[in-house]
This record gives sequence, C-alpha cells and structure tokens, in this order.
Amino acid sequence: MAVNNEERDHLVRSLRQFAEREVKPRVARYDAEERIPPDLLTQMAGLDLFGGTVPLEWGGTALDHLTYATLIEEISKYDHVLGVLMSMPSALVGAGILAFGTEEQKKRYLVPLAKGQTFGGAGVTEPQSGSDVAGTRTRYRQVSDGYVINGRKAWISNLDIASFFVMFAVREGEEGRTAMSAFVVPSDAPGLIRNPFRNKLGFRPICTGELAFDDVVVPPDALIGQEGEGFQVAMIAVERGRLSVAARAVGLAQACLDDSIAWAKERTTFGRRIASYQQVGAKLADMAMQTRAARLLVRECAEAIDAGRSDARLAASIAKCYASDVAQRVATDAVQIHGAHGVAEEVRVSRCYRDAKVFQIVEGTNEVQRNIIASTLTGLKGMPG
Ligand SMILES: Cc1cc2nc3c(=O)[nH]c(=O)nc-3n(C[C@H](O)[C@H](O)[C@H](O)COP(=O)(O)OP(=O)(O)OC[C@H]3O[C@@H](n4cnc5c(N)ncnc54)[C@H](O)[C@@H]3O)c2cc1C
Repeated sequence: MAVNNEERDHLVRSLRQFAEREVKPRVARYDAEERIPPDLLTQMAGLDLFGGTVPLEWGGTALDHLTYATLIEEISKYDHVLGVLMSMPSALVGAGILAFGTEEQKKRYLVPLAKGQTFGGAGVTEPQSGSDVAGTRTRYRQVSDGYVINGRKAWISNLDIASFFVMFAVREGEEGRTAMSAFVVPSDAPGLIRNPFRNKLGFRPICTGELAFDDVVVPPDALIGQEGEGFQVAMIAVERGRLSVAARAVGLAQACLDDSIAWAKERTTFGRRIASYQQVGAKLADMAMQTRAARLLVRECAEAIDAGRSDARLAASIAKCYASDVAQRVATDAVQIHGAHGVAEEVRVSRCYRDAKVFQIVEGTNEVQRNIIASTLTGLKGMPG
C-alpha cells in the first residue's frame, strides 16, 4: 500500500512520541539487563508496529518498503533492537512464509506474528559457518508421520520469546542448496534445546544463542514450500532482512551525529567549545555526509523492492554494506568526540558503538555483500555469497 509523504510523516511523528516516552528513558537499563521489557512489546503491538509490509489479509499493515524502512530508521535512533523485532514479520521470519507458505501456515504463523501476538526466530547459522548457507549440516529424514530433524544452529535470535522457528535442514545423505528444505518448528517441540549466549558485545537485549535439534519430530505440514526449496526461502528472508539492517544502521548513525553535535557545542576545552576546533568540525561534517548518503541508498533499495525491480537484490547488498560500514565509522567518531564520557555504558553513543560493529556481521557479512555486488557487476561466478 503506497503511503503519501504526509501520512508517512504522521506515522514517523507518532512513533517518535512513543519512543521518546517509552524507550528513551528505559533503553540503557534494559540493554544492561539483556532483556526487552515485555510491556514494551505489548505497547508496540497495540500501535500496530509489527505489521510492516505484511499484507492486510495476513494481519499486517501493508506498508510500502519506503515507509517501513523510514519507521525502522526512526525507532533505531532510540533502540535498533526494537527495529529488529519490527522487521521480523516482514523479513527474516515472515518473508519466507509469505512467499512459500500455505494458506494454513500463513493463518497459523504469519497473522499472529504481524499483529505482535507472537514472535518468531530464524535458524540459518550453524556453529561451523553462517556465510556458507548451502553448507548447512543440520539434517532431516522423512518418516511416516512427518520429518525428524537433528543438528545444531548457533547465534539464533529471539530464543526467549519465539513461539516458533523457521529453520533450514538438508535431506539426510545429501548436501548443498538443492537438498535444503525449510520447516516451521514450534519452540516447545520435544527435543528442541535453547542455550542463550550471555554478555554479547552488542544487540544485548535480544536473546541469541544455540538452538539444538535432538530427534525433533514435526508433522508433514511443517514443511515450507516444497522439499528442496529451502535455500530460496532462506535467501528471500535474509535479503529482505538486509533492508532492515541498513535502515537500522542509518538510524543509529543519525543518533550518533545528533549527540555528537550537541556534545561538541556544549563541551569546552582551553576556553573554547570543542565544536570550534577544525578537527572536530571535520568529523561532524564527514559523519553527516556519510549518514545522508547511506539514507539515500536505503531509500533506493526500498524503492527498488516496491517497484519489483530486478536489481533489488543488488540494491539491498549495497545499502546493507555501505550503511553498516558508515554506522561503524560514525559511532567510532561519536565516541571520540565524547571523550571519556562516550565510554560510559549508559551513554547512547557507547551502546551505538557496540551495536554498530555487529551490523557488519549479521544478515550476511560485509565481505559476503561485497562478493554479491562484485559478482553481480561482473557476471563472474566463484565469489560465493
Ligand atoms: C547478535 C547476532 C544475532 C544473530 N541472529 C541470527 C539469527 O537470528 N539467525 C541466524 O540464522 N543467524 C543469526 N546470526 C548469525 C549471523 O547471521 C552470522 O554470524 C553471519 O551470517 C556470519 O556467519 P559466521 O559468524 O558463522 O561467520 P563465518 O561465515 O564463519 O565467516 C567468518 C569470516 O570469514 C569471512 N568470510 C566467509 N566466507 C567468505 C567469503 N566467501 N569471502 C570473503 N570472506 C568470507 C566472513 O565475512 C567473516 O569475516 C546472528 C549473529 C549475531 C552476532
């Protein structure tokens, strides 16, 4: 559903009011506690913030990708982790179900997800590698009453709140893309084991860790799409996820810039405001230029997806790679401008600095994005990604 500029501005203003009131005063504390307050998620569900681009008939808000990305950017100025959750029904968790799922699967999983009544997770990464998705070792075999899954996933988010996981496994005795299938596995399935990793560098409120499958039995209707379509399901999920990472990176970079301008105008050394020193001013100027350029790439990517353009995949890799590199540089400069104050755990730029690094790793590392960009440009194979 295309949203005009006025409507988009209205949605952004409402989200900002919510974030100023409910997120800003609490985020430093819940980041340190490594948990998202459940009441925050309930309030977000009440504001329809999980509906994203999911069609109305499947419980979503059917936003165009530009509006969706703009909202993700806005919330990420306060806490990008909430942007992760806002994007999951439209991207990492929901996109595969929307594209490949049956009516019944959409009703059962996508509708409550888009309404914020449930949360889900996506199990792609494994202990031996996340980049090499086709090298998945978690395996399944068909039995009379469904499928039996065995294996281990690592670094899987939403371990605490997900009521189901979209996960990927290869048919026993086979390997590679064509052997891979996607399944929905309820989080209370017997044999499913969750081991959270604590004290992560960034993304701390999200509960991330190991997801182990020990003879987990799922019924035939747990299969998403056809057997052998798992790689395509995984790719649509992570590609949609890249727009979200890029938008979150821009929101985070903007927050770093805003705080750095305010601090540089307030802080004095040698009897002068530090903003008056050329070296500080140049940093601010570079931060602003890079953040604006990254925002334009996010918009280009959103518009490419909305228009169904064939270069949308390329645009997503470019936006994700550039915006996350920018976020990492801008956050580093923001801490530098804040001096020791920027190192204090509860200060926003300090949290941004820790989170920004992780943007360069998730949803396909930036090396993998550069492989995709280069191989798309040259048409040469041999650069996996
Ligand atoms: C906070 C957090 C949350 C996450 N949530 C999820 C989740 O919900 N679901 C999920 O499935 N995963 C999740 N991940 C995992 C994430 O997607 C992976 O970490 C990522 O895909 C990289 O995989 P890896 O860590 O195994 O690195 P590896 O694949 O082992 O790569 C290691 C290094 O080698 C480089 N490299 C690898 N292959 C190439 C190549 N062909 N060319 C050049 N360089 C290469 C990489 O770029 C990287 O620098 C999460 C990770 C984090 C940190």
